[in-house]
Amino acid sequence: MSAPRTAVARPVIAVAGLGIESSTFSPARTEAPAFHPTRGADVLTRYPFLAPGTPLRGAADWRGALVGKALPGGTVTAAAFAALSDELIDRLDAIPHLDGLWYDIHGAMTVEGIDDAEALLLARIRETVGPDVIVSTSMDLHGNVSRELAHLSDLITCYRMAPHEDALDTKERAARNLADLLTTGAARPFKAWVPVPVLLAGEQTSTRIEPGKSVYAAVEEVAAADGVIDAAIWVGYAWADEPRNRAAVVVTGPSETAVAAGAERLARGFWEARRAFEFVAPTGSLDDCLDEALGSAARPYFISDTGDNPTAGGAGDVTWSLERVLARPEFRDPSGPTVIYASVPGPAAVEAAEKAGIGATVTVTAGAEVDDRHAGPLTMTGVVHAVRHGDRDAETEVVLRVGSVYVILTRLRKPYHHEHDFTDLALDPRGACLVIVKIGYLEPELFDMSVGWKMALTPGGVDQNLVRLGHRRIRRPMFPFDPEMAEPDLGARIIAPSDEPLRGADE
Ligand SMILES: [Zn+2]
Repeated sequence: MSAPRTAVARPVIAVAGLGIESSTFSPARTEAPAFHPTRGADVLTRYPFLAPGTPLRGAADWRGALVGKALPGGTVTAAAFAALSDELIDRLDAIPHLDGLWYDIHGAMTVEGIDDAEALLLARIRETVGPDVIVSTSMDLHGNVSRELAHLSDLITCYRMAPHEDALDTKERAARNLADLLTTGAARPFKAWVPVPVLLAGEQTSTRIEPGKSVYAAVEEVAAADGVIDAAIWVGYAWADEPRNRAAVVVTGPSETAVAAGAERLARGFWEARRAFEFVAPTGSLDDCLDEALGSAARPYFISDTGDNPTAGGAGDVTWSLERVLARPEFRDPSGPTVIYASVPGPAAVEAAEKAGIGATVTVTAGAEVDDRHAGPLTMTGVVHAVRHGDRDAETEVVLRVGSVYVILTRLRKPYHHEHDFTDLALDPRGACLVIVKIGYLEPELFDMSVGWKMALTPGGVDQNLVRLGHRRIRRPMFPFDPEMAEPDLGARIIAPSDEPLRGADE
């Protein structure tokens, strides 16, 4: 056990972090404004559990530094990372005294020319705030945990559900565990870290179905054991190519033996389930999915256009699928089956459609400005059905009806996850024959609305066929890249509170 610490009645805790999931297989680049950074006291407004009057707000003196969260996208530019990091550090430096830091990140940020960006930023934060500040890191389960990131954090956890219905619960747990550690004066915890050489798509590892359901159910049991504070399994992020990209387990707590046993149990559970992880919906080529939808009585039938999913890091402007949909003879006539396609960014097309106005017939070209590797910009002639301004992501959206296909075009890329995303555009997804969305597994509202659903394995920056993407820098052997690999070492690597950071030691 490390030395007990002094209990602090009302500790000063800073909140800081940058979050994005960035695909290195997308040609897109992410700049600083995409993070929509909040600063100072505004940071606290992001978290309902830190609203004035809540018990957790009263338990500490919370100080917002800078928190920025971007939609998944391409690699973050070196300049954007430097600018945001510098400001975050300056803001932490301006807080005269700190007891704790809640590091609110995603964990799959790729930055030009940098490996393990979140650990690098945390190392800089440590240099600024000093070694005695207790750091609690909260992450998405699709983030990656290098040994160094685990080392630089005192507490570290992630979501236990995919889709992430427990995102706010997880953040609250990370913040509360930190406040508890500081107010009780408990010793810094032990951490048991186990890298698991498995790299799978998020769409194969939903916790709604087996084996993800059971694998993740064990997390709660391990976290509830004596001597354990928290437990987490990271699936990791499959569409980036750094040595850190793989699954990992970390269990934290005061008991070295309890955290080791818990971490080994979770790591073994994940490893042994590796071959059983399947896509959460039936998959097929786009044409197979369209054939099945047209032959089915299920209405609405949803198809996930998975390869260019902007919420996983796709550029969002791949035209490959829309081009094929518009080429289908079934949809050429306006009286054909109603199809909604969400979406393709095309600022010039949006401007032209907006200028022409609702009801006008226009010919516009959209898409493939960022990712033109699979299909070029797409020219369409259709009737302007709707125009909407003011969306946080898209800024302006228009709907163009081409034959029987309602194509959503946006000024900037936007995910379509909610029913109102469609009804705000005078579209009726429940009445449609077919709704095609650039998404992986359906978000809850769409899932509830869908009567039929299939995932199309389409090309793009987040192609679900991982083995054909061409990873070069991940550690090998790795499942499923080396399907017959030998049993890995799944023993807990204990990081004791007194250990010095082991830069680069990641085994
Ligand atoms: Zn995620």
